[in-house]
Amino acid sequence: MQVKLPFSEAVFPLVDIGVNFFDPAFAEDLDEVLLRAQLAGVTGMLLTGTDLAISESSLKLAKEHPNLLCSTAGIHPHQASEWTKNSADTLRGLLAEPACVAVGETGLDFNRNFSTPAQQQKAFEEQLGLAAETGKPLFIHERDAGVRMLEILRTWRDSISGAVVHCFTGEKSTLFGYLDLDLYIGITGWVCDERRGIHLWPLLPSIPQNRLMIETDSPWLLPRNLKPRPKKYRNEPAYLPWVLQQVADLYQLPVQRVAEFTSANAQQLFNLPAALLLPESQPEQK
Ligand SMILES: [Zn+2]
Repeated sequence: MQVKLPFSEAVFPLVDIGVNFFDPAFAEDLDEVLLRAQLAGVTGMLLTGTDLAISESSLKLAKEHPNLLCSTAGIHPHQASEWTKNSADTLRGLLAEPACVAVGETGLDFNRNFSTPAQQQKAFEEQLGLAAETGKPLFIHERDAGVRMLEILRTWRDSISGAVVHCFTGEKSTLFGYLDLDLYIGITGWVCDERRGIHLWPLLPSIPQNRLMIETDSPWLLPRNLKPRPKKYRNEPAYLPWVLQQVADLYQLPVQRVAEFTSANAQQLFNLPAALLLPESQPEQK
C-alpha cells in the first residue's frame, strides 16, 4: 500500500497545489489515495475546481478533511464556453467559504482551443474580477498563450492579491515575465520528463526559492523518473516526492530544504491553515 520513496524516509511538509480527485480515475479508491499521500509525506493538497460542479464537490470534500485539503473554485479555459451570467454568483458563493482558497483553475489554453480564445478571455477576465473582489489569489493555467496572458495580467496585477501559474511548461521569456509580476510558479512532473521537459532544466534554478511550488496535477503527468511504473497509468499525490527529488536535483539542494520552501510558499499565497503543513496524527496504515 505504501509507495517506496525515491529517498530514504518521508520528507515533510509537502503541499501538492494541484490534484483533480473528481476525475473518474479516482472513483474507486480515494480513501487509499489520501492515506498513501500522507504516508509519502504529503501534508496538504489543493483540490482543483475546473467547472462549477467540480468546484462545489471539491469544497465539500475539503470540508470533510479540514486538516488535509483545501479547494479552489473556477472554470477551466477548456470549459470557458460554459460561462454564463450566473457563473460568477455561484463561484462567489463558494469563494466565501474559508476552505475555498483560490479562484481557478482559470486562464488561457491556445494549444487546443476547446473553447474559443474569445470565450477563454471573457471567462478569465470575469474570474480576475472575482479575485480582485474577494482578495483571494488565482490558480492559473496557461498553455501556448504566454504573450496574451502576460498582457492581461499586467493590467490586473495591482488589483489582485497574487497568483500561481500552475504546471509551468513555457519558455524563459514567459517565465521571467511572470516573475517580474511577482507571481508564483507551479512545477509538475513535466520536469521529470527527459523528452518534453528538458527545456525546463536550465530554467528551474532561476526561479527564486520564494516563488516556487510543486504539484502532481493528478491523475495526469505521472513522473517519468518513477520506477517501476505503476500498473495503472495514473498519477496521485503520493508521487509528489518524485517531482520534489527532480526539482531538488536541479537546484542542487537537499530535498528537505525544497520541501520546506515550496510548502511555505503555498501556505503564504493561499493563506492555508497551519494543519496543512503538519502530518496528520499518524494516519492508520493498512
Ligand atoms: Zn491546468
